[in-house]
Amino acid sequence: RQEQFRALRDVEPATRDGKLINLQMNAGLLVDLPQLFESGATGIGLFRTELQFMIASNMPKADEQEEFYRNVLKQAAGRPVTFRTLDIGGDKVLSYFRAHEEENPALGWRAIRLALDRPGLLRTQLRALLRASSGAELKMMIPMVTEVSEIRAVRELFQKEVQHLSKFGYQLPRKLQFGAMLEVPALLWQLDELMDEVDFVSVGSNDLFQFSMAVDRGNARVADRFDVLGRPFLRILRDIVRAAERNETPVTLCGEMAGKPLSAMALLGIGFRSVSMSPTAIGPIKAMLLGLDVGQLSEVLNAALDERKPGAPIREILAQFAEAH
Ligand code: PEP
Ligand code: MG
Repeated sequence: RQEQFRALRDVEPATRDGKLINLQMNAGLLVDLPQLFESGATGIGLFRTELQFMIASNMPKADEQEEFYRNVLKQAAGRPVTFRTLDIGGDKVLSYFRAHEEENPALGWRAIRLALDRPGLLRTQLRALLRASSGAELKMMIPMVTEVSEIRAVRELFQKEVQHLSKFGYQLPRKLQFGAMLEVPALLWQLDELMDEVDFVSVGSNDLFQFSMAVDRGNARVADRFDVLGRPFLRILRDIVRAAERNETPVTLCGEMAGKPLSAMALLGIGFRSVSMSPTAIGPIKAMLLGLDVGQLSEVLNAALDERKPGAPIREILAQFAEAH
């Protein structure tokens, strides 16, 4: 099967009814980069910048960060890379950066919250990203956004770095794309305002699922109980796609579910046209979508999601559809 998937590497990722799907991969270290070409991904939809911090024994310095991002972009050789700014805290701990003990770390001082309280940390990273993408495109997104005002605050810091660099004659990126991750349910009721402020959004379905279903993503005891393919979560995701269409804002989903054939199928069925997943999933997902009539699936899936009295589990409906086609 590995060979079969390899043979698909240069095949255009279009569904049987002709919808082009953007298949990107997730990464976080330089060793991941060769996979960009081996897998045939169109780009890196989620680059987890905290990994450089997590494997280091002390805080990476500004020039180390810059050099790292420069290398990533060099090895990506023009394929787009979406850098996520530091997502520390919660399940992502730094040994040398001791935050206080927290009762609920997933709901605590993490990601953008921590970054806005320690603006020096964030500004150093923004500067490193700006310098590394001098003359090229810089695509970045912010994790764990809860309120649109946080996006504005990051933009202000970013603007300061831009001004600082221009004052000293640095060549800025040729193009900037600024995005937000959708991981906190409160953002679902701010989608239109949010989409006025950003160039794209990316659904972090691991966290969005954890928070919307109130289920710890790392707790095996509750892992089987709640289904990403259940009606409530798929309806949430469908609402996001609808808001993105209404606002003409590009939307991607970069959580684990994008890399599993049945849930990826569901994502396409509710309207996602861009996903990012672990590189080993690209082959299997491409194989799935090449044979998929997504228009037909949408009809079946939307009808099932609109039912007032839920019928068969969505997982079964998807499996049956796959079987029948
Ligand atoms: C997510 O939450 O779905 C996500 C992609 O980010 P992470 O898994 O790194 O929290
Ligand atoms: Mg997340």
